[in-house]
Amino acid sequence: MTLVSSRAEQPWLSLAKSRNPSGMEPLPPLWVTLYQLQQEAPRPKRIICPREVENRPKYYGREFHGIISREQADEILAGVEGAYILRESQRQPGCYTLALRFGNQTLNYRLFYDGKHFVGEKRFESIHDLVTDGLITLYIETKASEYISKMTTNPIYEHIGYATLLREKVSRRLSRTKTESRKTSVTSEENTPVEKITSLVRRAALTQNDNHFNYEKAHNFKVHTFRGPHWCEYCANFMWGLIAQGVRCSDCGLNVHKQCSKYVPNDCQPDLKRIKRVYCCDLTTLVKAHNTQRPMVVDSCIREIEARGLKSEGLYRVSGFTEHIEDVKMAFDRDGDKADISASIYPDINIIAGALKLYFRDLPIPVITYDTYSKFIEAAKISNPDERLEAIHEVLMLLPAAHYETLRYLMIHLKKVTLHEKENFMNAENLGIVFGPTLMRPPEDSTLATLNDMRAVCRACGGTVSSLLWSAQTLHTAGLYK
Ligand SMILES: [Zn+2]
Ligand SMILES: [Zn+2]
Repeated sequence: MTLVSSRAEQPWLSLAKSRNPSGMEPLPPLWVTLYQLQQEAPRPKRIICPREVENRPKYYGREFHGIISREQADEILAGVEGAYILRESQRQPGCYTLALRFGNQTLNYRLFYDGKHFVGEKRFESIHDLVTDGLITLYIETKASEYISKMTTNPIYEHIGYATLLREKVSRRLSRTKTESRKTSVTSEENTPVEKITSLVRRAALTQNDNHFNYEKAHNFKVHTFRGPHWCEYCANFMWGLIAQGVRCSDCGLNVHKQCSKYVPNDCQPDLKRIKRVYCCDLTTLVKAHNTQRPMVVDSCIREIEARGLKSEGLYRVSGFTEHIEDVKMAFDRDGDKADISASIYPDINIIAGALKLYFRDLPIPVITYDTYSKFIEAAKISNPDERLEAIHEVLMLLPAAHYETLRYLMIHLKKVTLHEKENFMNAENLGIVFGPTLMRPPEDSTLATLNDMRAVCRACGGTVSSLLWSAQTLHTAGLYK
């Protein structure tokens, strides 16, 4: 396994590897080793230029030695581990190089600046930080290259689920942490080994206890700079480096090495504290965070409409006051499933219907996902009813589980709406027109989107949703749409 995907991404490593350290024993598989190595790594030693250098870029300090040759740089560094200078290229003036002593040789890196300093993908405030991080990376990845390459093969993440003994204790600690002040979260930044293990168990406890609806959800990893030592919650090894040591899931807070993030299963259990809104939140993320089968907006609005609105003329077609609809949205964002949308507050059922449509429209990924969009349109175009039904059923199976469940529930509800067609004047076709563009939108690169013919898009979506609606009853009777 290669540690990084490209040379450009991590230039330190490509050099460390090319040095091919011979005779180095693989280190014992202890998570603490990498931490010790980081402590042992050579520290940067800035070699100042004794003379005034002309044309020194303003973002470099006195470690800049102007136009000098590689050989001259080598002499200045005088074989001191961690010693570094900056120089300007003789052949290409305006190009700058970092010359750094490591492993008894001088390494030269092309240096860039765009407001921050970098030689690879990590961006640094200062040259000192860049060199510190570079030396740590070179040292660890030279000393422990074999160990690092095997790090992900026996992840603690898979075993920790069985650590049932500690679970209750940890859950208690967790519930306490929730009510405590920020002080607790500051302390947890300074992860001790004990903290590390409990955070792993905590995650296992959360995953196993709270997950009634077993929807898969991928983690939402973003590069993260950790303050204080941190350990990967996948492989349990130290996350080395000065900045951008790993990635953190913005939904559940899982911290792992970048290379480990590829192996973590799609078992993200979003943390309610991190999910601030109900509207505009990814559907699967919302239902997993609140541990519900469907978004609570869908259940609440449909319950309310079925209780007092099925016979309302032009249901879903007549629009309610935008301000009142925004009000309902705010109530859900603020109070979640406790939002009060009863007749005493919103006597006009069109406001509730409008709030439901708005929820679907605001989804970052529509209920009928971008991935399945064209497949649904194609399936709905099939003229033979049996074949069409078969095709629709097949595409439905491609939807993420939480999306499928939401769509199924909505279709059963809309079917009930059509049963009152005589009073509400809403048949499958009308509902298709209303819900089409709400439930599905063409992905930006599709032909329909590039045509930029909104009427064509609406017709296609409307047609698809009414065929879905026509199919709903049959699929339901056939037990395919349970
Ligand atoms: Zn996650
Ligand atoms: Zn890891």
